[in-house]
Amino acid sequence: MIRTAVLLAAGMGTRLGAVGERQPKGFVEIGGVAIVERSVQRLFAHGIESIVIGTGYRHERYDALAAAYATSSASSTSSTSSTSSTSRLITCIRNERYATTGSLDTLLAVRAAVHADFLLLEADLLYDDIALDVLLNDPRPNVVLVSGVTNATDEVWVQTGDDGIVEAVSKRAADLRDVAGEWVGISKLSLAAYDDLCAWRRAAPAAADVPDYEGAIVAAAATHGIVARRIADLAWGEIDDAGQLRRALGVVHPRIVANEAARAVRRDVLLTPGPATTTDSVKRAQVVPDLCPREAEFGDVLAQLADDLTAFVADPRTHTAVLLGGSGTAAVEAMLASAVGDGPLLVIDNGAYGARMAAIAAGYGMPCVSLRSAATAALDLAAIDAALHAGCDGRRFSHLAVVHHETTTGLLNDVAAIGTLCRSHQVDLLVDAISSYAAVPLDLAAMHVTAVAATANKNLQGMAGVAFVIASRAFFAALPATPGRSFYLSLREQYRFFAAERQMRFTPPVQTMFALKQAVLETKLEGVPARYARYTAAWEALLEGLERLGLATLVPRALQSHLLTAIQEPTAAGYAFDAMHDYCRARGYTIYPGKLAERGSFRVATIGAITAADVRGFLRVLGDYLRTLPTD
Ligand code: PLP
Ligand code: MG
Ligand code: MG
Repeated sequence: MIRTAVLLAAGMGTRLGAVGERQPKGFVEIGGVAIVERSVQRLFAHGIESIVIGTGYRHERYDALAAAYATSSASSTSSTSSTSSTSRLITCIRNERYATTGSLDTLLAVRAAVHADFLLLEADLLYDDIALDVLLNDPRPNVVLVSGVTNATDEVWVQTGDDGIVEAVSKRAADLRDVAGEWVGISKLSLAAYDDLCAWRRAAPAAADVPDYEGAIVAAAATHGIVARRIADLAWGEIDDAGQLRRALGVVHPRIVANEAARAVRRDVLLTPGPATTTDSVKRAQVVPDLCPREAEFGDVLAQLADDLTAFVADPRTHTAVLLGGSGTAAVEAMLASAVGDGPLLVIDNGAYGARMAAIAAGYGMPCVSLRSAATAALDLAAIDAALHAGCDGRRFSHLAVVHHETTTGLLNDVAAIGTLCRSHQVDLLVDAISSYAAVPLDLAAMHVTAVAATANKNLQGMAGVAFVIASRAFFAALPATPGRSFYLSLREQYRFFAAERQMRFTPPVQTMFALKQAVLETKLEGVPARYARYTAAWEALLEGLERLGLATLVPRALQSHLLTAIQEPTAAGYAFDAMHDYCRARGYTIYPGKLAERGSFRVATIGAITAADVRGFLRVLGDYLRTLPTD
């Protein structure tokens, strides 16, 4: 699996004239985006997790690009995990002698930052990202992409042997026996081939005039079986001079835009509290080669997922995530059934999900007390303190379980304050963070939280089918074997099995894990605080629109999560939730029924791959629906 890309970006762009003097070639903007940034976005969308840029001319622009990505991802981890194991998204390494050397020396300069097979791209390219799909899916480890005739000028022609192996390249087609295609500047290289390119350069006489990397690839092609893969009609162009820039703007970019539109998945906006709207890149990440989940390769994916999921809320050096196939309730049930031995357990119940935890405890026959609290008001911390003091049948509570974000109403419970209480009472705090994780900042250590349960398909913007519990490794290792509890949902067994075998105990949803891997990458790229800010902006747009439509929320504004809003149903005669739902859904927006028995409500979530503009679009449709109701 390729997870690294190298961009060659040292060039001076002298042939671009004034445009090239203002900025390095990668920063030429097309469609409002610098072409290198577009390339970076497409690489991340294809599951590339680490990008190394070999810089030179005007390197500071690339450094700033790398810093922008570092800022968003660093702020996505909690304060305790700022030194987490997650690697940098973009690393820039300078070829100090860029002015007098060629692209091969830039490729050599980044050697220390490359640890596995990689994609190699020139930074001054505008390309249809189908090119990435083709290279990533090609079973051969060393592949150079070539295209049909572009007439772009300055073409590099490629000659191959009968076996497809690259034999020669030249800017003069007449030099070649025959032409297999034009060199695009997007390749896939194995680490072994890369090392030979480096060796070839070092062995070249010092006087050799500034070799390009294309020449080195030709030299290594026979040894490593470097083949040319042709996409005859690929939309692509490099931007080395004014004519090529005109072609990129006038011909290549419009073709790419049309191709992307043709491939897009139809967008339906889910304003439901999960599964949430996902990006196309997360949807597509599920389309992977068939893979047995008992292969070491898949174990590596799971191990990295566990680290990355942990890093959003704790330090992966001390904490980890135990993954389970199942919905969010599987993680909540596993957490309660595995952590609470003889108890007793105190459950805070101010909504359906708190009540569900009490029901799970009852199902296992755990000693459990429910502390009820109003569904639309802040928790009474003094009452929780008193309950902890009182204990249960003369025993101290061993655990307290609370829902962070009560998705019943959109009420956010103050986990930090409860954590402080639990600490003073020496009670372990178990949190259902199913609908808050990856949006509302959580820090297990700082908030005195023992374990949280969360899931892939809500704020993480992944697919349903994977849930997980995050806690310290010490916690998992010390879990008791509790006969009579769940066989399948045992965190103790799942943790031990993974530690020993690097596999899950039972068949995991393989493709769903790949979607989760992509969703985690996209969460890192955005950063949890920025994601919460985006959701908050969508929520603000919702509240503004509801007020205009004369609809009231159930929970006071200050107590709301910003993630889900419970709305009092319209009182107009003729209103029916199902009719409103169907009206909105037919127009692209899916809303959710209420869950609070005593009061008529419906719910709108503002999570997932959506923006405030989507919410405003929904509000227009909702307004249209309300106007269909008779006024009395
Ligand atoms: N807990 C909370 C707070 C939730 O919001 C949900 C689902 O919305 C669940 C638990 C249950 O998750 P699932 O439906 O995935 O089992
Ligand atoms: Mg170029
Ligand atoms: Mg060129």
